[in-house]
Amino acid sequence: MISTGICIIGAGPAGAAAALQLAVMGIPSVIVDKAVFPRDKVCGDGLSGKVLTLLTRIDKGIGERLRESLLKLDSWGITFTAPNRIGMHIMYKPRYQKLPHEPHGLVCKRIDFDNFLVEELKRRPEIQLLEGRGIERYELQPDGYLLTDRTGQFAIKARLVIVANGAHSGFTKEVAGIRMEPAHYAAGVRAYYRNVQGVHPDNFLELHFLKNMLPGYLWLFPLPNGEVNVGVGMLSKVARRKKADLKKLMMDTLEGDPVMRERFRYAERMGDIKGYGLPFGSKDRTLSGERYMLTGDAASLINPFTGEGIGNALHSGCLAARQAAQALAANDCSAAALAGYDASIRRVLRPELLLSAKLQKMVNYPWFINLVIKQGARNQQLQELLSGMFHEETLRKKLQQPSFYFKLLMGWGGKNG
Ligand SMILES: Cc1cc2nc3c(=O)[nH]c(=O)nc-3n(C[C@H](O)[C@H](O)[C@H](O)COP(=O)(O)OP(=O)(O)OC[C@H]3O[C@@H](n4cnc5c(N)ncnc54)[C@H](O)[C@@H]3O)c2cc1C
Repeated sequence: MISTGICIIGAGPAGAAAALQLAVMGIPSVIVDKAVFPRDKVCGDGLSGKVLTLLTRIDKGIGERLRESLLKLDSWGITFTAPNRIGMHIMYKPRYQKLPHEPHGLVCKRIDFDNFLVEELKRRPEIQLLEGRGIERYELQPDGYLLTDRTGQFAIKARLVIVANGAHSGFTKEVAGIRMEPAHYAAGVRAYYRNVQGVHPDNFLELHFLKNMLPGYLWLFPLPNGEVNVGVGMLSKVARRKKADLKKLMMDTLEGDPVMRERFRYAERMGDIKGYGLPFGSKDRTLSGERYMLTGDAASLINPFTGEGIGNALHSGCLAARQAAQALAANDCSAAALAGYDASIRRVLRPELLLSAKLQKMVNYPWFINLVIKQGARNQQLQELLSGMFHEETLRKKLQQPSFYFKLLMGWGGKNG
């Protein structure tokens, strides 16, 4: 049996960030994953600016190595397309020169990005990585958790557990008592295509708010090898009500929609369409308890408006690592001692998640998206504001002010703002 102070279950972005953050603080950990890397993960593969910032914050070298990696593509903006097909291009920075340190997003297949993180884990002597081991049983004992695989043959004893095993986490359900709620959960499907026409020359991500998918959307994210990640996401509550088959919806759209039909005329799908769940952070939940903290998708921290979860997975992993360091130093891993983790999540991540939940409700209405995109397409000032929202925290707060919507409805004070 392996004995450790901290065991991290899952070596995806949340678990990897926790282990790396602990390692830079000089704290050893054991991280265990049921998969052997490189492994695939169903995802849009879009990495917001947050990802690079957070990895750099853990260790400058990690940020530099990702920046230099040939496995990712730099993306300089996002194109939003309204139900009435008017499009709006939003740059991460209003005027950009494509310099490495300007704010921008990345796109990287998860098989590559997660393996990049695993390589970083292997660089650190403080981290013991165990692959191909699934933790399926969790027994709370007076001095820690006894974690075992299905057979009970493989066992780890840990004083503290950081749970980072994703959207289908058994620990989240069985120990923390958090269940899937269709109003706070989405279903997503994605496939890789090559030879898609009309991709933006600066690799803009594309979000198409088509009428039959609201409040979800169709995405097209360009990849480094010339392929495109194509997917559809929809709130589970709505998908159930509509009895939507997302794979069929995606194929019908690519084949039947006049714009998509042209763009996919010579396209070829590489492999199957795959689906997975997105647990949204639109509800405040308690994420820590006696000797454990939940992180990433296991803590339901995906942005309910954008579907972005990697940044919050990294961030929550780092916050859990800092809380774990304090708990071990004080020799107190009680629920009360770990409640500071929940306080950090509420302070750092929750405000944006709750704001995004409000935005998600608004995109139920095609007229609202048509209006925002119509105004944005012809108004430089509004474009700059929206662009700033992707990398400036203070600007995102403007969205909470009623005056923002008033200005929007009034045409943003005329053509020049
Ligand atoms: C269709 C779709 C599209 C998405 N698009 C985007 C996007 O473009 N950008 C973005 O930022 N986010 C996106 N997301 C969300 C993003 O994929 C997740 O938020 C992110 O992967 C969460 O990271 P994580 O480390 O919490 O979990 P995961 O990445 O799921 O990692 C969990 C790890 O735990 C391991 N594990 C599972 N069970 C066990 C066990 N019992 N024992 C040991 N190990 C175990 C798994 O093998 C895995 O390696 C998308 C999600 C979906 C489904």
